Amino acid sequence: MRRTYRGSCHCGAVTFEADLDLTQPSYRCNCSICRRTRFWPAVAMPAAFRLLGGEDDLVEYLFHSRRNKHYFCRHCGVRPFGIGTDTPVGVMYGVNIGCLEDVPEETLAAIPITHVDGLHDRFASPQYTAHL
Ligand SMILES: [Zn+2]
Repeated sequence: MRRTYRGSCHCGAVTFEADLDLTQPSYRCNCSICRRTRFWPAVAMPAAFRLLGGEDDLVEYLFHSRRNKHYFCRHCGVRPFGIGTDTPVGVMYGVNIGCLEDVPEETLAAIPITHVDGLHDRFASPQYTAHL
């Protein structure tokens, strides 16, 4: 079921809301940045994501194809969300599930995970996933 979740970075400077259905697949990717930050996003379309605070505290980081926009809090370094500009579903937000507030551990543990082979630019499961 889709519902609205509040989220924040660790220091609280960046806050957001997102309409998410946590029974839908979340993603774990093996690309160079997701692996380093252990990013665990759920997908939200642009209309389902609202930045509530901390726009000036966000740092945008681009690399390689510069298609995906990665955002970090400049105080605590947490990555609350990213924006994919060229995905199979068009522009979409990757909302960091780890930043969602008041989600029971039981619910988090039940979220389905789809692995993505970002390292080889493939929207398919990589050969190795246990470390992701
Ligand atoms: Zn922060």
